[in-house]
Amino acid sequence: MRLQARTWLDQIRPYQPGRRAPSDAGSMAANESVLQASDGVVAAVAAAARWSHRYPDPLADDLRRELAALHGVGAEKILVGNGSDELIFLLAGAYLAGNGVAICADPPYRVDEISTYVVGARVSAVPLVDFAHDLDAMARLDADIAYLVNPHNPTGTTRSRADIATFVATSPAGLIVVDEAYIDFADDPAAMTAIPLVASGRVAVLRTFSKAYGLAGLRVGYLVADETVIATLRKIRAPFSVGVLAQAAALAALVDGPRLHQVRALTTAHRRLVQDLFCQAGYQVVPSQANFVLVLTDDETSLVDHLADHGIAVRPGSSLGTPGAVRVTVPTADGLELLRLALVAPVPLILR
Ligand SMILES: *Cc1c(COP(=O)(O)O)cnc(C)c1O
Repeated sequence: MRLQARTWLDQIRPYQPGRRAPSDAGSMAANESVLQASDGVVAAVAAAARWSHRYPDPLADDLRRELAALHGVGAEKILVGNGSDELIFLLAGAYLAGNGVAICADPPYRVDEISTYVVGARVSAVPLVDFAHDLDAMARLDADIAYLVNPHNPTGTTRSRADIATFVATSPAGLIVVDEAYIDFADDPAAMTAIPLVASGRVAVLRTFSKAYGLAGLRVGYLVADETVIATLRKIRAPFSVGVLAQAAALAALVDGPRLHQVRALTTAHRRLVQDLFCQAGYQVVPSQANFVLVLTDDETSLVDHLADHGIAVRPGSSLGTPGAVRVTVPTADGLELLRLALVAPVPLILR
């Protein structure tokens, strides 16, 4: 038989990762943490490395128990994945494959869209309004899954829990997946999280260790959902998808409350400074509750190149579905200094 990639894959625009910056300070393209892994995480990974000859615990039970306690839900409502991206692909395999429909914001988080297309399903795209999810319009559409990203990537906007509860009550969608990758950077994560809505049976919440916990390189995320959803995903997952080092690191990061507090405080302080720097340079920015800021510009290529000339890598909006903008990850103190130097340097007026 002649080898033929499935024709429905043709509609996928390949995911474009952020450019590599020449230095850690200039790395503002991938929404990574402002702090490196802590000594506690490094020690936990080093100790776990000795057990690399063993397969990992398939369900990451130690981590699952801690997460269950943290969120006040039963451990049977939690599934740990190889980053939340793995869990998004599992959701697509379970609930979208074979003619399913996913509702996404336009622009979406790209992985929600790619995973939907991979399983031959369709995306109903609902344009953002004022850079935020149009929940009223989304609630008028039927779908197997409705994806809400809160705070949204790439805009940093949020919807309140009350708004999401109204959406859950009015939307006909089978499952509402709320991706809370950036919630730790919001003003009041406890008031905003949709985890209390999981009890409705129709809401699933995605979290990740890649952002506020600073473990993007180790790939750990988790889903909080009804036990029937978790049981279905368990049937189709690769049993050992989360490695020994990743599980050890996540557990060490999770119990280090002061570190999380430090990352949050530093990120929110630097976020304000990033917003101020761009505003003072004449740009408009979208007020953000995440660890990045969307900067509006008439000429995104020139702004991206100008920042690159100053050692700064950012994400062009056109690669994220927001042409006419640039997404800037909140950087370290050294990164702020690079930004300050770049933005006081003469910038062609056309950029503004
Ligand atoms: C960064 C990000 C994630 C995290 O994905 P991982 O696979 O856990 O690294 C999830 N959702 C959104 C919207 C993100 O921006």
